[in-house]
Amino acid sequence: MRPVRLCIGFVLGIGVMSCSSVPGTNRDRLDLLPRSTVDAMGQEAFADIHANGKVIDQGDQVRRVRRIARRVVEAGKRRYPGAGLEDYEWEVVLIDDDSANAFALPGGRIGVHTGLLPVAQSDDGLAIILGHEVGHVLAGHGGERLSQHLLIVGGTVIGAMAIGDDDETTREVALAALGIGSQLGIVLPYSRLHESEADELGLFIAAEAGFDPDQAIGLWQRMAKEGGGPAIEFLSTHPDPHRRIEQLQALLPKARAIRAQSGLAR
Ligand SMILES: [Zn+2]
Repeated sequence: MRPVRLCIGFVLGIGVMSCSSVPGTNRDRLDLLPRSTVDAMGQEAFADIHANGKVIDQGDQVRRVRRIARRVVEAGKRRYPGAGLEDYEWEVVLIDDDSANAFALPGGRIGVHTGLLPVAQSDDGLAIILGHEVGHVLAGHGGERLSQHLLIVGGTVIGAMAIGDDDETTREVALAALGIGSQLGIVLPYSRLHESEADELGLFIAAEAGFDPDQAIGLWQRMAKEGGGPAIEFLSTHPDPHRRIEQLQALLPKARAIRAQSGLAR
């Protein structure tokens, strides 16, 4: 289902239209909720992750991830000024989990599984992953997925949210929309679109930060091999590996030029 058609369908069906444009790609995005609401949900989901006790927030490994994340976020702000990245107090943690995975939540919260580090291999690989995650935040994918779920499940959830009912179903739907929790089949094709968009934005952001975009090919090939483990976002939502590599290869000339212009290439 294409987003524009979703918006049009919403107009015809309910008589309200709420779309906005994704920075960098200019795609029409479904946008039914205020960003403050979506960000608060992301922060709540992140607090849940903290509460499960597997978060590592000190030591050399997390310092390395944070150092690279800082460069990537700063590059994202430079490349897409006014798109909202500067509004967040970014928080980046490592999560003690063997699966090769990372995730980003609305509100500027990023988690990297320890199992991702050997697959990322280098600072460049890690920067491309972190760029991808910042890309999800930049593009407002969490809010768009939440909006889609609202369309799918309709008034029940809207009503529950309006009266502040902290009912388990509402919570489940919100978490699923943010990519944490069970997934509804109808959302999956759209998530692949989100993944491609985050790949594009992330590649350019990592290049702007001075990292080597050519490392993206080997990185996503290694990630595809790792697929299948329990995961928050890569679980059945990642793009077809061949198409993903083709798309990245087509973006590389522009990414290399961005890196050269940044003056930060090592
Ligand atoms: Zn992703």
